[in-house]
Amino acid sequence: MLLSNNFSLAGKAALVTGGNGGIGLAMAKGLAAAGAAVAIAGRDEAKNAAAARDFALTLRCDLQDEKACRAMVEETAQRLGRLDILVNNAGTNIRKAPQDYTLEEWRLVLDTNLTSAFVAAQAAYPHMKRAGGGKIVNIGSMMSLFGASFAAPYGASKGGIVQLTRSLAAAWARDHIQVNAVLPGWIDTALTRRARAEVDGLHERVLARTPAGRWGAPEDLAGIAVFLASPASDFITGTAIPVDGGYSAQG
Ligand code: NDP
Repeated sequence: MLLSNNFSLAGKAALVTGGNGGIGLAMAKGLAAAGAAVAIAGRDEAKNAAAARDFALTLRCDLQDEKACRAMVEETAQRLGRLDILVNNAGTNIRKAPQDYTLEEWRLVLDTNLTSAFVAAQAAYPHMKRAGGGKIVNIGSMMSLFGASFAAPYGASKGGIVQLTRSLAAAWARDHIQVNAVLPGWIDTALTRRARAEVDGLHERVLARTPAGRWGAPEDLAGIAVFLASPASDFITGTAIPVDGGYSAQG
């Protein structure tokens, strides 16, 4: 096979959660540019409508709800005729000191960031197995690797994403389903614009620690999404790949 064909997603169907903005939107656009029919899912109608023209299907869905999460996967498989690629990208954060979280806040972050990825992967599995293979890409974080004083549930959810990735990869490798995690560094999105407003000195600390000397852009994540969704990565599974301008390489 020619190397260039190895990165083609022609004939494939993909679902990107949280694909209506930020990193998810950039990854969804990357998958579509590589030839996939792409479905995106999010809660916000205005963001969904603004993104809709670029994609085959837009679904309104609150991923905190297990039933809605399963229905999102089933509707994608039904309307696109198949499901080959699942990107578990939707995520949220609540920033405060660990001693100040309510259990409701803890659950909101864990349900959105971790449980939804498990439920969506579980729902996607029979479709991928039936098709003879598939690709699951889970979005972690630098907080899959490091702690932060203001992000206990977020860090727990993102650490969990890496271990979930390894478990699914081990379980489903013989079904030719590869499961990998991507760990973005600090990327300029709505999520981190809020973080910069809430955490004193964050902007400068990120710039000082990132060897590349800049914040990432959502488009910096498009290439890894295409690679991990394509035949080029068929022997890569269970990994957690930082896309961070060197942030995690620097002590
Ligand atoms: P954004 O806030 O821009 O995007 C988050 C996306 O998730 C939105 O599309 C949002 O859609 C969706 N979402 C959130 N909650 C739910 C929900 N309950 N149900 C359905 N969709 C939901 O953030 P980013 O693009 O920055 O983040 C994307 C992913 O990347 C997250 O998992 C985040 O943790 C991770 N990440 C981001 C980093 C960064 O620096 N930006 C660094 C490391 C990881 P809607 O609002 O319509 O519900």
